[in-house]
Amino acid sequence: MKIKDILKTRRTISFEFFPPRAAEGIPEVLQVIQQLKKFNPDFVSVTYGAGGATRRFTEEITVRAKRTTDLEVMAHLTCVGQTKDEVHEVLSRLEQAGIGNVMALRGDPPRGQTDFVPVAGGFSHASELIQHIRTHFQFGMAAACYPEGHPQSPSLESDIKYAKLKVDLGADFLITQLLYDNEFFFRFMERARKAGIQAPIIPGVLPILNTAQVRRFTALCGVKIPPALDQQLDKLGEDEHAVRELGVEYATRQAQELLAWGVPGIHFYVLNRSYSMSRILQNLGLPGHSGQ
Ligand SMILES: Cc1cc2nc3c(=O)[nH]c(=O)nc-3n(C[C@H](O)[C@H](O)[C@H](O)COP(=O)(O)OP(=O)(O)OC[C@H]3O[C@@H](n4cnc5c(N)ncnc54)[C@H](O)[C@@H]3O)c2cc1C
Repeated sequence: MKIKDILKTRRTISFEFFPPRAAEGIPEVLQVIQQLKKFNPDFVSVTYGAGGATRRFTEEITVRAKRTTDLEVMAHLTCVGQTKDEVHEVLSRLEQAGIGNVMALRGDPPRGQTDFVPVAGGFSHASELIQHIRTHFQFGMAAACYPEGHPQSPSLESDIKYAKLKVDLGADFLITQLLYDNEFFFRFMERARKAGIQAPIIPGVLPILNTAQVRRFTALCGVKIPPALDQQLDKLGEDEHAVRELGVEYATRQAQELLAWGVPGIHFYVLNRSYSMSRILQNLGLPGHSGQ
């Protein structure tokens, strides 16, 4: 089923997983998907690796998860290091395997490079990939957007312009970069609606599991940790258990506020861990998603 059709009927809860570095890690990811299945996600997604073998793992996990669960599984796909023909082949394989939804992304520049340089014969922007998919395939399609601005974007206005272009060219809905201050999402929604973006926009929430990790992630993608949260993390220091508990509590409150505001869904970056996610969903007690 296309996720855009699910979004027409209900507010969605979705989980994002990432492929392991080595093939031996695939069963573990599939196991976490199985564990979280009892919370009845409306869809799950699998990110696309920055390069090398992990890309095949994305396809493998997507296809195996689809076959072994009755979940709707969306495969992420980027333009990094691949020609248009190579990307087309990946899409054809996904289509043949019965995957109905993809998330179309440009991808980040390889480590050590600041600018994204497409390979010869490759796509330069997600919008080009979206146009290609719309022209040649029938997938349901998501694209990314950035409430605090994409790090390479000269301005929030320019960023919104390209988010709109992605919807105009065929993205059915948008999922945001992770955020910890919902005000950024609310302000982004105002700008997006003003710019004429009518597609559903789903906020992304990453439950904090580890202080060093969340500081690294947010620094990489230009996302702010609110000062009060940052101070709490400072206070907890190396106490991993306490940090994880704070992560559960914070993500619960954040999701409650977003749901009360009326978001079309919440996309949780679960980092292949089921414990915090299970606790958050139990706390939220959403009908159909509480694991009962
Ligand atoms: C929900 C979500 C999921 C993600 N999943 C993955 C994943 O699976 N694998 C992975 O490697 N990365 C993933 N990313 C990270 C993403 O690849 C990076 O943020 C990347 O830097 C931008 O990708 P994009 O698709 O938003 O690119 P684009 O939409 O192409 O935007 C990139 C930059 O170029 C600008 N821009 C866009 N179009 C144009 C244009 N036509 N002319 C000039 N400038 C333009 C934008 O404003 C922005 O600054 C994800 C991000 C999000 C939010």
